[in-house]
Amino acid sequence: MKSHAKVVVIGGGVVGCSVLFHLARHGWTDVVLLERDELTSGSTWHAAGGMHTINGDPNVAKLQKYTISLYKEIEELSGQATGVHLTGGVLLAATEARLDWLRGVVAKGRYLGIDLEEISPDEAAKLMPLIDPKQFVGAVRNKEDGHLDPSGVTHAYAKAARKLGAEVERFTKVEDIVRRADGLWRVITNKGEVVAEHVVNAGGLWAREVGRMVGLELPVLAMEHMYLITEDMPEVAAWNQKTGTEIIHAVDFDGELYLRQERGGMLMGTYEKANKPWSEFQTPWNFGHELLEPDIDRIAPSLEVGFRHFPAFQNTGIKQIINGPFTFAPDGNPLVGPVRGLPGFWVACGVMAGFSQGGGVGLALSNWMIEGDPGADIWAMDVSRYGDWATMAYTNAKVRENYSRRFSIRFPNEELPAGRPLKTTPVYDLLSAKGAQWGVAYGLEVPLWYAPEGVRDEFSWRRSSDFSHVAKEVAAVRNGVGLSEISSFAKYKVTGEGAAAWLDRLLACKLPKPGRMTLAPMLKDDGRLIGDFSLANLGDESWFLAGSGVAEQYHMRWFEKHLPPDGSVRIEALGPKLTGLSIAGPKARELLAKVTRADVSNAAFPFMAIARMDIGMAPCLVGRVSYTGDLGYEMWVAPEYQRAAFQALMAAGEEFSIGLFGSRALNALRLEKNYGSWGREYRPIYGPLEAGLDRFVAYGKDADFIGKEAALAERKQGGKLRLRAFVVDAVDADVIGDEPIWYDGAVRGWVTSGGYAHHSRKSIAMGYVPKEIAEETDGFEIELLGRRHAARMQSAPLFDANFERMRG
Ligand SMILES: Cc1cc2nc3c(=O)[nH]c(=O)nc-3n(C[C@H](O)[C@H](O)[C@H](O)COP(=O)(O)OP(=O)(O)OC[C@H]3O[C@@H](n4cnc5c(N)ncnc54)[C@H](O)[C@@H]3O)c2cc1C
Repeated sequence: MKSHAKVVVIGGGVVGCSVLFHLARHGWTDVVLLERDELTSGSTWHAAGGMHTINGDPNVAKLQKYTISLYKEIEELSGQATGVHLTGGVLLAATEARLDWLRGVVAKGRYLGIDLEEISPDEAAKLMPLIDPKQFVGAVRNKEDGHLDPSGVTHAYAKAARKLGAEVERFTKVEDIVRRADGLWRVITNKGEVVAEHVVNAGGLWAREVGRMVGLELPVLAMEHMYLITEDMPEVAAWNQKTGTEIIHAVDFDGELYLRQERGGMLMGTYEKANKPWSEFQTPWNFGHELLEPDIDRIAPSLEVGFRHFPAFQNTGIKQIINGPFTFAPDGNPLVGPVRGLPGFWVACGVMAGFSQGGGVGLALSNWMIEGDPGADIWAMDVSRYGDWATMAYTNAKVRENYSRRFSIRFPNEELPAGRPLKTTPVYDLLSAKGAQWGVAYGLEVPLWYAPEGVRDEFSWRRSSDFSHVAKEVAAVRNGVGLSEISSFAKYKVTGEGAAAWLDRLLACKLPKPGRMTLAPMLKDDGRLIGDFSLANLGDESWFLAGSGVAEQYHMRWFEKHLPPDGSVRIEALGPKLTGLSIAGPKARELLAKVTRADVSNAAFPFMAIARMDIGMAPCLVGRVSYTGDLGYEMWVAPEYQRAAFQALMAAGEEFSIGLFGSRALNALRLEKNYGSWGREYRPIYGPLEAGLDRFVAYGKDADFIGKEAALAERKQGGKLRLRAFVVDAVDADVIGDEPIWYDGAVRGWVTSGGYAHHSRKSIAMGYVPKEIAEETDGFEIELLGRRHAARMQSAPLFDANFERMRG
């Protein structure tokens, strides 16, 4: 075994081998994979080997498509058979709600280049002969489904990597990992030590244990998973003989089942409701090529549905039940990327669909390690989407929930209850008493809307029980004054003598003067967005940033990576140490004037001003800015004062009929101002010009800000896309995001977010289209629940286009 390597990859499952292959293919060949046993000695060897392109997140779906397209290449490169059978498959819906969901999947496929087609149950039965079509209301055909040989694929990755110069050391167990003073990693094994610049934790079933070696508690948990294999079935033999082809894959969402042919019989797997975690606290090191005891009682309810939906199963025997563990993150997506605070330590774990996602994970991680950027929008897989709040008990609750809902529909207005409430703000109970319906962002409870007694969300793809109530919240803001709880923003304090110069380099905007705020896009080296903040200059070398709450860890990782080593800049994520309230609407100034002695007249406290002032008895930092696009103020307050500030505002607001509003109303309000948001309109695949944030980029400022050269090039060449807002002729449902935008009979763009703008009484969609058609106003259509609706480009905001309300 070599004593030094650029990269040590820990774990020889499908994921580690894919990472090794991608690193070598990308030119890093001084790389070694350490496997404590034979390759495939974790979850990989007993996988059912199914692969599919669809995923709830379009960016993950793209990487799944890439994974499937890769198998031919690694087979050729390695000479190792992967056993890929691209049979195609059918996705089955037994309810109308499921069919609505599937139609959304078909629609997304149009711009992702995934060939999906809605078909009838009878047509599905012609493709997959075991189906009882009477049990279903519709189906979708996917030509890119299939299955493979898990061991063959893993070895193909490893052999291909070896051919490119990478090394694989089997029976080499990593026992400890220690960071040296010079930043290199000592990877200590049972066979000696390797010193490496980078370490990748692809430990699969043991990823938690490998993480603990560097003081990291990763939010992953293994679950037991069962599939059965039947005896040979005459129906299968007859089909094979008649058509000369295998029986294709099927996913029966309502039965929570997946099926495929396995030799002369069938394989049926299930995500059972009565699921069971495995090794909740510590994965035993002596576990390897063994299986868990099957428990047919646990999967019996799903099998009953399966036997009804696929009647031929009633007449066959079960040859074998496989029960094996594999790991999940709380939301079921992988954990990939560099770990904040541990330079050179990377993770590629929690991959629950290794044969659909392993290639994409390897590609993204190798790009990231070598180029400094994953090369794709992998937010849905980024390890930084979790913070300290994702504790072991939280992970346990969430993973169980996610497993049991693997094939369940999640409606756009559906909040999942497990592991909640976890983080709450001091006004939580006060808002609950007013009917707050809670959602969650980065572990924190956030009010979505306020329901009268007895009214709750009715889960639906269409406008639902909250519609008229959200309309009232919006009206309270636009006609008088509304109050919302805004603690879920991420807040950062930046101080130190080097702070101004550092911010000038980090952010693309012009720095504001003391007492002023500005919008601050943050770019990567390639000139694309990596953040968008409001930046306030508090004077005395003290700065305040507010940004996307869910991206706190993501942004801290970036900030810390760029901090000067001399200690001249300090940055702190304030998290729950600072809470927030916001008031907005034409009466907001009058209300503020009633609760503070500060002069808040337009002259003394204009748009984008920021100052410390007391709200009632509570000391606050107040900025004159509002995401509602109205006259409004954001108030930042230490948690111990939040209740006092809230009560002062509510009491003084009575005279203006103050109303509480939640994030759904806020969405309705910002949409009619064409305001985008991080994670939806603003993501690391768009440039500032494309996203319409170029007006906040100080292209000409002296500071050589990160991404400046690329941003200038984007401005010169014009980028490729443009963010636009559309008014949609929608009837009873509004876009939620990821719907295709049609123009002139072809899919040309995609929706990033939208909803109903109650004040303007219009259904709005925001999304990206190619710049060539970005100045057209008509001819657009947006596909919603399987139907195309006419949409008109809305270049000027529907509300306050002249900024009279906001700045007045
Ligand atoms: C019953 C079942 C059916 C499944 N069906 C499918 C399917 O149809 N399709 C699909 O895509 N996925 C399926 N999966 C999931 C799939 O198996 C996983 O997504 C995949 O195997 C994860 O691979 P991995 O490389 O991340 O982890 P693992 O396979 O667990 O590999 C981790 C490797 O790291 C090694 N290791 C750990 N710690 C150390 C250390 N300290 N030192 C050295 N080596 C170490 C281990 O020995 C192991 O070989 C199924 C899983 C199960 C259990």
